[in-house]
Amino acid sequence: MQGSATAHLAFPRTAGGISTSSSKLPNETNMGESTIDWSALGFSYLKTDYRYLSHWKDGQWDAGSLTEDNILHISEGSTALHYGQQCFEGLKAYRCKDGSINLFRPDQNALRMQRSCARLLMPQVPTEQFIEACRQVVKANERFVPPYGSGGALYMRPFVIGVGENIGVRTAPEFIFSVFCIPVGAYFKGGMTPHDFVISGYDRAAPNGTGAAKVGGNYAASLLPGADAKRDGFADCIYLDPASHSKIEEVGSANFFAITQDDEFVTPRSPSVLPGITRLSLMELARDRLGLKVSEGDVHIDQLDRFKEAGACGTAAVITPIGGIQYGDKLHVFHSREDVGPVTQRLYRELTGIQCGDVEAPAGWVVKV
Ligand SMILES: *Cc1c(COP(=O)(O)O)cnc(C)c1O
Repeated sequence: MQGSATAHLAFPRTAGGISTSSSKLPNETNMGESTIDWSALGFSYLKTDYRYLSHWKDGQWDAGSLTEDNILHISEGSTALHYGQQCFEGLKAYRCKDGSINLFRPDQNALRMQRSCARLLMPQVPTEQFIEACRQVVKANERFVPPYGSGGALYMRPFVIGVGENIGVRTAPEFIFSVFCIPVGAYFKGGMTPHDFVISGYDRAAPNGTGAAKVGGNYAASLLPGADAKRDGFADCIYLDPASHSKIEEVGSANFFAITQDDEFVTPRSPSVLPGITRLSLMELARDRLGLKVSEGDVHIDQLDRFKEAGACGTAAVITPIGGIQYGDKLHVFHSREDVGPVTQRLYRELTGIQCGDVEAPAGWVVKV
């Protein structure tokens, strides 16, 4: 369960259960595409050929370039190491039937990273530079983009860190913006399957803290609750709102959504929820393509009977159906615990179809590499 449990997160905390795949991919050697076993890929670090690096110094980002070196050499005084001054993003590049490659809403990731940077007093990376960096990294690592139909994708990890010589609690004198990538496999090889989650007694973010920013500090806070949940046999934990502990906010490192008995799409509204791009996209698809009523609002933990389907959504896992939620000594079971609900299935097909180019995308959602 350990390996598959990690696969349900938007950003699995540990390597997935495919340790054999990395041994099949010797990084140092110049292996050809034919040696990659696409069906064996999970979510594990792999040193691909190139990553993008740009430095900020004296008020501006340099031109940025690709490098083969996957080791960062930074000052021991870097704020990223001591004060958590860093943020990251996650997006995927998808191979289409015609061989071309799609990035899914990279402008949204650029905007979100700009908001994360602003919250942590870091310089913002312009949207054009962000998208261009992703493009360059995909092109330079094209042989790692999984084939159309494999269910896999090239996962991109952009990040900004505060570096340079410093010790006081203040913003760093210098910054690094980097983008690296890894090929990742399909989350559900035999189709989606519902999983049980447990309500955590811990908070991942404070009411007016950094919950809406995609920063490592939130993840550091979530490691222990996540490990506890998995130890107890759950896919991950669910966090309640940190102010009243009565409303669902986040599912591990993914967003929560649910479908009411009368077919309304509901997702929590809160300043400490991370504004996910998968969540945003599902809201738009539910409204515009499925014709559902969509609302952002309170999801009270003692009113789960309103819902017939529930799920967690994020870039890496796309949609993880939620079969049951353990709260104290009670397990709430959704109607769709045995079989993925019909609305969840339609949303999944629509979203993944758009991502790999099989379904027409709303304007601006797909950027060709
Ligand atoms: C990244 C993230 C998500 C999902 O966001 P997507 O843009 O859909 O990948 C949800 N919750 C948290 C805490 C996250 O960090």
